Amino acid sequence: MDPSPHPLSQFVLKMHSRCDLACDHCYVFEHADQSWRGKPVVISDELLDLTARRIAEHARTHRLDTVHVVLHGGEPLLAGRNRLRRAAQSLSTALSGVSALDLRIHTNGVTLDEQFCELFAEYDIKVGVSLDGDRAANDLHRRYRNGRSSHIRVLRAIELLRGPRYRHLFAGLLCTVDLRNDPVTVYDALAELAPPR
Ligand code: SF4
Repeated sequence: MDPSPHPLSQFVLKMHSRCDLACDHCYVFEHADQSWRGKPVVISDELLDLTARRIAEHARTHRLDTVHVVLHGGEPLLAGRNRLRRAAQSLSTALSGVSALDLRIHTNGVTLDEQFCELFAEYDIKVGVSLDGDRAANDLHRRYRNGRSSHIRVLRAIELLRGPRYRHLFAGLLCTVDLRNDPVTVYDALAELAPPR
């Protein structure tokens, strides 16, 4: 069989299927499809290794220069440093000599700390953070289950990523736009954080 002319080169790997926030616009947890309730909470080491091997097999078949993998959730930091390290190791080992690995993580940022950043620096894992703008805009949806704001904690995570030690890991901000928020205020709040994207 001829290799597909459109091979996959980007993979989203669901590390953890729960979240420490309860954003009311969340398409995973807060809407009609509640199938997450029956899924394993965290990906197993065995499944990580198997997935890494299958991605590498695909990359080899299609001679891909680079494979892009995003560690995702739920909230992927809930998987913990050991499991995230295992993901990075499995993927690097499987893709060694096959393709370059562009590894990223996308997080809500609320538990991002220096220990996570050290791990990401060790494996060159780029970090994207979700933030919906200024405090009022972010508080409209991105709150804890008890209604508490997540804004300050997310800003703390972004400050960490903007510091000289980890700046090279800061991949960008992801904003869900709500037309009820003032667009200029949202834009200015995001631009003030000087994200690379
Ligand atoms: S942080 Fe992301 S996964 Fe968690 S509740 Fe909010 S939108 Fe959903």
